[in-house]
Amino acid sequence: MADETTAPDIPTQLEALEREAEAQLSACAADADFNEWRTTYLGRSGKVTQLLRGLGGLPKEERPRIGQLANTVKQRLAAALEAQQAQLRRNEHAEALKAEALDVTLPGEPVRAGQLHPITQVLNEILGIFERMGFHVVEGPEVEWDRYNFALLNIPADHPARDMWDTFYVDAEPVSNLGSMLLRTHTSPVQVRVMEETPPPVRIVAPGRVYRNEATDASHEAIFYQIEGLAVDDRINMGDLKGVLTAFARQLFGGKTRVRFNCSYFPFVEPGAEVSISCHVCSGNGCRVCKQTGWLEILGCGIVHPNVLRAVNYDPEKYSGFAFGLGVERIAMLKYGIDDIRYFYGNDIRFLEQFR
Ligand SMILES: [Zn+2]
Repeated sequence: MADETTAPDIPTQLEALEREAEAQLSACAADADFNEWRTTYLGRSGKVTQLLRGLGGLPKEERPRIGQLANTVKQRLAAALEAQQAQLRRNEHAEALKAEALDVTLPGEPVRAGQLHPITQVLNEILGIFERMGFHVVEGPEVEWDRYNFALLNIPADHPARDMWDTFYVDAEPVSNLGSMLLRTHTSPVQVRVMEETPPPVRIVAPGRVYRNEATDASHEAIFYQIEGLAVDDRINMGDLKGVLTAFARQLFGGKTRVRFNCSYFPFVEPGAEVSISCHVCSGNGCRVCKQTGWLEILGCGIVHPNVLRAVNYDPEKYSGFAFGLGVERIAMLKYGIDDIRYFYGNDIRFLEQFR
């Protein structure tokens, strides 16, 4: 009988069909694949159902066993489908997590940080040197009275030295004992203000902006920074001045720097001197920076004039002092080899970024 010969084949065919279905299932990677697979193997006219059509030809006692076997295969395939779909969901979830993951070892987006202006950097460095030698930092007003900027500094109204310090006057009525209001031409008024209010000893450095009515060129700006220094005590002399300024120059420009004092004139000191350092570019042999002289002038200084001490009611018989004033831009130009003062105020980021 034909039916009896096919009957033993059904379990074998079921087994082969199950293996085929499992192989196909493992290749499914999307919902559409699963739907197609379900239709192909488990659907109403799917392959398993087709196979069971042959059940009718089986001997009656065989039918339940084969039918049960077929149902088991169907259940196993359905379970396999579910497991495979769940696995796919898990994989997708893992992929999503991976895509969202934050790699904390990656370098961050660089933040564009600002920096101190080179003049501020040099200013801080200079103040630091004097602070370590016991000087206090003091500030005074930029809009000043004639009295402090000139008169009490031994520069009376008719003094020719006023020509050296032409400035901008503020449009205000002069006050009888203070004179005209003006933009200070130097930081020296701060020493007068400090001495007026403080008995000796005094040891200060006064940084700040100063103003000159001046045409701008490579070495002149109408606005620039100065640092004033003043020490007054009962036995201060030129040796103290030399010692302090030599120590300062060596800390700023290097321990081998030689320091030279040349006689000079400033109305508020006597004697007065200009201080030069040995050129750090050519070590004093002569080059373009030092104009072949081997020396670079860095500041003016001197012993405080007795008239200045008297003006603030210090007794010049009892007290003496030294004072110095330096231009911060000039020091910065020498230190970094900058040949035009205007770079400092040009707001060119390419210039400024070199001083990180
Ligand atoms: Zn030189």
